Amino acid sequence: MKEDCIFCKIARGSIPSATVYEDSHFRVILDINPATKGHCLIIPKEHFDNIYDLDGETAGKLFSLATCIARAMKDALKCDGLNVLQNNGQIAGQTVFHFHLHLIPRYEGDEVNLTWTPHESDAEELEELRKAIRKGI
Ligand code: 5GP
Ligand code: ZN
Repeated sequence: MKEDCIFCKIARGSIPSATVYEDSHFRVILDINPATKGHCLIIPKEHFDNIYDLDGETAGKLFSLATCIARAMKDALKCDGLNVLQNNGQIAGQTVFHFHLHLIPRYEGDEVNLTWTPHESDAEELEELRKAIRKGI
């Protein structure tokens, strides 16, 4: 529990939320300012700032839960698609610095824009990047 963290308070139930699921590790809530109808957030009860802090065991449980929630959302909302999104750092759009996974149902004509402009790359650059990332794994 981190002092002054809104998602610690929501996850532990001291601030009320529209909860669709809860167990000893996670709370799943409806986003208060949804991108689309039924936008859900999966929030671990333990505080992690972001993906760099999250341990593998919690991450595994969280993604397993995400598959169940996604299927329930598809059935209940009759959405045409669903994006899984997770932001780390201000530049990436993170506004609440307690790890959470977005499940965003998508509907024909919803005008949500999560796309980017693809850039050219060259083989030499890809090889340098491949080696640099691989070294740290
Ligand atoms: P981020 O931008 O950090 O990836 O996502 C934070 C999300 O949390 C936003 O979509 C925002 O609408 C949602 N949010 C922020 N405060 C609250 C709150 O008090 N209750 C709920 N249900 N959602 C919140
Ligand atoms: Zn927190």
